[in-house]
Amino acid sequence: MKMKIFTMPEEMQAWATAQKAAGRTIGLCPTMGALHEGHMTLMRAAKEASDIVIASVFVNPTQFAPGEDYEKYPRQFREDCEKLAREGVDAVFHPEPAAMYPAGFGTYVTPDCAETQVLEGARRPIHFRGVATVVTKLMNITRADRAFFGQKDAQQVAVVRRCVEDLNLPVQVTMVPICREESGLARSSRNAYLRPAERKAATVLSRSLRKAETAFTAGERSAERLVALVQEELAGEPLARVDYVALRTFPGLQPVTEVRETCLLALAVFIGTTRLIDNVILEGEA
Ligand code: AMP
Repeated sequence: MKMKIFTMPEEMQAWATAQKAAGRTIGLCPTMGALHEGHMTLMRAAKEASDIVIASVFVNPTQFAPGEDYEKYPRQFREDCEKLAREGVDAVFHPEPAAMYPAGFGTYVTPDCAETQVLEGARRPIHFRGVATVVTKLMNITRADRAFFGQKDAQQVAVVRRCVEDLNLPVQVTMVPICREESGLARSSRNAYLRPAERKAATVLSRSLRKAETAFTAGERSAERLVALVQEELAGEPLARVDYVALRTFPGLQPVTEVRETCLLALAVFIGTTRLIDNVILEGEA
């Protein structure tokens, strides 16, 4: 089957509805494009679990605050389509902002819970309202049975799960592990902003997390000491400026002092002017 490309929500939804009527299950992979190998791991997971895979490519304006990188976010739709076709993706949904948010648009999904108030939510106050709104719309437009998200944005997974549960959306959410470069750097469309020296410096993110993970595996359970290990390693990199390092339960994102249940150790760091995030999940024994 040749890969379909839809730009209008109604056409995407009509096609998805016909697929469902034919008894096929639909897996959705939402993306903002500038696709890399990390996105492809989502496509593969979706293909494995669903009859039909729909990828969305949409730089969602409502999840960017003024002054963030909405305008300069990399857009390369043609290359994206080539990559998606090679993975055997069945359909791509690539709407214009005006098709998703036409004049008069006024219904937002505003998750009001612990999951949106900390970490990224504390730094980017409107971000998760934009994410929850667009993801809910995408799930409805594509009639998704399953939706695939990367652990790279673990907090996003927690927020989407909360949303799906609270709104009784009939979608199963799957989290796919972080895909990294050989250097350890988590793959990200924003890595394109990094100059060569910065790209090298950016390896400190995963290195610092690995240091804490190794200590955790060796028995360290103090959240304070695990966070301190990460901060210590980050402090050794002159090009890095820490935004936050935090350890919280996952997916509830509650504070912890001792890691006894599944927790998320997450960080956001500026390398030059580029803000990067990374994380590791520490599996508690409970
Ligand atoms: P984005 O295009 O950055 O909005 O990402 C789209 C989806 O791909 C999100 O669910 C991300 O978490 C996921 N993703 C991005 N980078 C990676 C990565 N390195 N490994 C796994 N998933 C990723």
